[in-house]
Amino acid sequence: MNVRPTSWTHPQVEVRPSPIGGQGVFALAQLRAGETVFIWGGQRATPEEYRAGVITSRSCSAIEENVYLGKRPSLGDLPDDFVNHSCEPNLWLVDAATVVARRDIQAGEELTLDYATFYDIDDWIVTEACACGSRICRQRVTGADWHLPELQTRYQGHFTPLLAARIARLEVGS
Ligand SMILES: [Zn+2]
Repeated sequence: MNVRPTSWTHPQVEVRPSPIGGQGVFALAQLRAGETVFIWGGQRATPEEYRAGVITSRSCSAIEENVYLGKRPSLGDLPDDFVNHSCEPNLWLVDAATVVARRDIQAGEELTLDYATFYDIDDWIVTEACACGSRICRQRVTGADWHLPELQTRYQGHFTPLLAARIARLEVGS
């Protein structure tokens, strides 16, 4: 895939303090289901480069086997770096880098993604309990969550191509 040198952000969003945690990204206007909100950019990095800090951990997604997409620390934080996790997100992926509204989103709503759909480092664990507030909150968010069958069903077609291929191989093997 071609990687944009940096991320694109919908003009009608802003970063501000979030009740989920830290800073979050909020809609300034209504966003329609399917509308593109972010296109991730940066550069490709190997797992070794990721662990060495070549790309920032907060911008990292697993796009191909042994390839992460992320941004150099020198780029600074961009709005897409502040998207909080939710176990019932209102955004999701439609390819390795394009993030769209999963449903209609009202002005003022916080924009969220389920980290399970693009993060694959099995030993990565969010140390604080999840504060997304969803009825289906799984409390503990880890880099192994893409293994969960209910998430594989819920987000079918909305994982990074890497994770989608891995899930397909699990289904073939089972
Ligand atoms: Zn949650």
